[in-house]
Amino acid sequence: MTLEDDARDYHRRPPSGKIEIATTKPTNTQRDLSLAYSPGVAAPCLDIADDETVAYDYTAKGNLVGVVSNGSAVLGLGDIGAQASKPVMEGKGVLFKRFADIDVFDVELGLDDPESFVQAVAAMEPTFGGINLEDIKAPECFEIEAGLRDEMSIPVFHDDQHGTAIISGAALLNAVDIADKDRSSLQVTFAGAGAAATATARFYVSLGIPRENITMCDIDGILSERRADAGDLNEYTEPFARGVDDGELEDAMEGADVFVGLSVGGIVSQDMVRSMADNPIIFAMANPDPEITYEDAKNARDDTVIMATGRSDYPNQVNNVLGFPFIFRGALDVRATEINEAMKRAAAEALANLARQDVPDAVVKAYGDEPLQFGPDYLIPKPLDQRVLYEVTPAVAEAAMESGAARRERDLDAYREELEA
Ligand code: NAP
Ligand code: MG
Repeated sequence: MTLEDDARDYHRRPPSGKIEIATTKPTNTQRDLSLAYSPGVAAPCLDIADDETVAYDYTAKGNLVGVVSNGSAVLGLGDIGAQASKPVMEGKGVLFKRFADIDVFDVELGLDDPESFVQAVAAMEPTFGGINLEDIKAPECFEIEAGLRDEMSIPVFHDDQHGTAIISGAALLNAVDIADKDRSSLQVTFAGAGAAATATARFYVSLGIPRENITMCDIDGILSERRADAGDLNEYTEPFARGVDDGELEDAMEGADVFVGLSVGGIVSQDMVRSMADNPIIFAMANPDPEITYEDAKNARDDTVIMATGRSDYPNQVNNVLGFPFIFRGALDVRATEINEAMKRAAAEALANLARQDVPDAVVKAYGDEPLQFGPDYLIPKPLDQRVLYEVTPAVAEAAMESGAARRERDLDAYREELEA
């Protein structure tokens, strides 16, 4: 059976889809039912009416994330619309549940205009402990996220932007060490200036890469000050305009230490890789086909090329599932009001540190017995590594408490034990 037919079968098999609601309290007796619903339910309702924060104690809010999309930039499929995006959003729910035991309502909204979208989602604040925005196209995704962060006092996180930034940021922290480079003098070239690329570039600045060392290219080449002056850039790309001559990606890659591809497949040649600095770092993350293949990048030169892609069939897969389940788990468990820079940095650093530790046999087995040892071909942990939950989650919770985003304090040792139980 082809993968496509297998997938159709998987989704169609009764009950249709991939998720259902389960109840968590007894419903066996008349008494149980009058506790679950009328008249008993009135007591918690009135308590919440007095003090909204007890909604976290009386309802599922604190473990419930809304995965919200309008289907305008779904995977590599483009603008397929809200209804067609539902299998993806249910799938995201499956990952939240599988990796961090977080419940999800997937919410597909037939709304393209950012203002109506913001209004609709902001009105759902009572329902959720957090909002994961998903597969919304640029530039609308920026306005929507900014609007919701403003309006809502629960975490709002556009995973396609920040997830990519955090996971590739973790890989970068380790790659820089392995290649014996220095963060403060690193020259970084981006292919792509869209949702993922601009968020990733902003995050790299927050990790200590000087903004003036970042050169971004869109389909028309380098984002230059001349292009900014000509009105060619927008408020998200303009901060990365450089005072250099206009040029192509090819020009921007000459001498670069790091290439970050968040654009389209196949646009980087071996010659371009050869023009980069010694021991170059290449994160070619266009999906499903990277900007340059793993083999072509590795074989382009004799020194060490550190390579990551978005693919599971090569080393160093930049997979967002290493981030969002644990970032939300940590945020929810301290009832965070947001997911801020400090929390994102903490997640990236925890992932980077975990990759430096010995990998348990069970994890090695789950990935076909290939040796997994910190180095060019193992920069970041593997998604099925249980330790990601124990390491990343408390780091995020701790950063939330230290940065003032937490509404509830947790003892970190006790919290870690609880996660490991
Ligand atoms: P997006 O918002 O549509 O951005 C795409 C960007 O690529 C645009 O800035 C576009 O330039 C640019 N581009 C297109 N052709 C180009 C070319 N020939 N040379 C240079 N730049 C070019 O899309 P996105 O959501 O950021 O995603 C971008 C890519 O990253 C996709 O392939 C996606 O699958 C991948 N991605 C991977 C991961 C992962 O591996 N974890 C995560 C997120 C995204 P214009 O603005 O001029 O059109
Ligand atoms: Mg996505």
